[in-house]
Amino acid sequence: MLLTRLCKRFLESDRLAFIASVSAAVTISIINLLIDSDLAHAVLYITLLFMSAHVFSIRVVTIVALFCFLLVTGSFIVDYFYEATGSIVGYIRCLVSLVTITLLTVRSKWSTNELRRNQAFLTGAQRLSRTGSVGLRFDHGRCREVRWSEEAFRIYGYPRDIEPSWTLMIARLHPDDRSMADNLFAQLAAGEPDIEVEQRLLMPDGNPRYVQMVINAINPNTPAHSREYVAALMDITAMRQAEQALLDSRAQLAHVTRMTSLGELAASIAHEVNQPLAAIVSSGESCMRWIDREKPELEEAKLSLQRIIQCSLRANDVIAGIRALSKKCVPQRQHYAFDKIVTDALVLVQHEMSHKHIKQQLSLDAANARINGDRVQLQQVIINLVMNACQAMGNSCQGMRSLKLRTWVERCEVMIEVSDSGTGIDEADLPSLFNPFYTTKAEGLGMGLSICRSIIEFHDGRIWAANNEGQGATFMFALPLVRHTQAVSKTFIGPGEQSPRLSFS
Ligand code: ADP
Repeated sequence: MLLTRLCKRFLESDRLAFIASVSAAVTISIINLLIDSDLAHAVLYITLLFMSAHVFSIRVVTIVALFCFLLVTGSFIVDYFYEATGSIVGYIRCLVSLVTITLLTVRSKWSTNELRRNQAFLTGAQRLSRTGSVGLRFDHGRCREVRWSEEAFRIYGYPRDIEPSWTLMIARLHPDDRSMADNLFAQLAAGEPDIEVEQRLLMPDGNPRYVQMVINAINPNTPAHSREYVAALMDITAMRQAEQALLDSRAQLAHVTRMTSLGELAASIAHEVNQPLAAIVSSGESCMRWIDREKPELEEAKLSLQRIIQCSLRANDVIAGIRALSKKCVPQRQHYAFDKIVTDALVLVQHEMSHKHIKQQLSLDAANARINGDRVQLQQVIINLVMNACQAMGNSCQGMRSLKLRTWVERCEVMIEVSDSGTGIDEADLPSLFNPFYTTKAEGLGMGLSICRSIIEFHDGRIWAANNEGQGATFMFALPLVRHTQAVSKTFIGPGEQSPRLSFS
């Protein structure tokens, strides 16, 4: 133990290193002088140089080399070697070898130092940016070699002394993502040059870890069946968690504003529920009358019962819609017919419009358009736009209140336009319309349009507003059609759902 420590300190000290090397060189020289050895002393000096290059700094190596030159020259003079032509040639050869080896040694030492320094920089940068490197060598459908950088060991959560392997990488994958790994393996084995994947790991403590991997073939000109890859592996867990937190708080905010809208729509909702209930009561009464007759009219009674069933279903639909809107839930995207979402949303604002004597022009021309979205959130946007339009027309005279709602398909998008004949928007306010807390209403929150925009952007769509030529304003939004959404997501191999992009400005 003590010996090891002493040796370590000895090796760490430049001065001691210098003394040790010089002593070795002098010993070689003395042995050479005393016993007139046949050993080529140049070889011994060179060995000494190599050994000192392995252990000591460039400065010490250079001084040792200079000392060796002096000793060689010294023995050349002391032994009168300069008197024989053969010895002069030998001396020059010895000097040339020593100079060449010294230069090569110093250069290799310098390169090694540089490499070590870069390695340290890289390790530091990888740790800071949470990016590891993985080297993979494939040969005829098999993964022959796997290498990990220090940070890759940390990301995968394996001890540093374990032998990296493809099996260990797969073992860390979330069970739901294993099939994706098979796909990735097949692509690598087939020699695919550039691949980008997002993987979900399941760590031993049960926590998930998200990693983004960019894999490139080192030399794409090599045969496809035997390629070597280098992959940058980034731990994006913190980013995904932040996105999730943002998504949760946005969902909560959307829920609060939905509840506010439902509160404003209380009269409409009561009306929508009351209508079928009243129809149920009157159909029930007539059914009783048909049955109470001397000769019961069963066919008529049956028709009344059918009306009761229809009205009950209608009331049930309205209540289900309201329940969905009032429920606090994480956004879930599914394929829906866009026009159906619009008509379902309009049910809840129907009474509001007729109550305010607003003339409606409905033109739904996107019957076959299907979108991939969250029904409740999209309904929330439509209700918000219609409610804003109704409020903007609150002070217009009754005959002038008109709301046009259009849907249609344009290229790969479905469009909706909500146009009113209200106050319009001050041109200067148009750019800040969708900003949070922008409101011109005395009791407004100013969050409605901001939430609308974040919902539409979450659905990869666009929303905008403009003043009409004559009177009022028009709000429009566009959403990608299902066909288009699928085409986009195909270019990305990722775990399950595509991660949501959020913007909340
Ligand atoms: P709030 O309704 O609480 O004010 P919104 O974000 O829904 O919040 O609307 C922000 C502002 O945008 C409104 O205060 C209003 O000035 C303006 N606005 C929205 N829709 C219309 C419209 N159809 N016509 C005129 N102004 C509108």
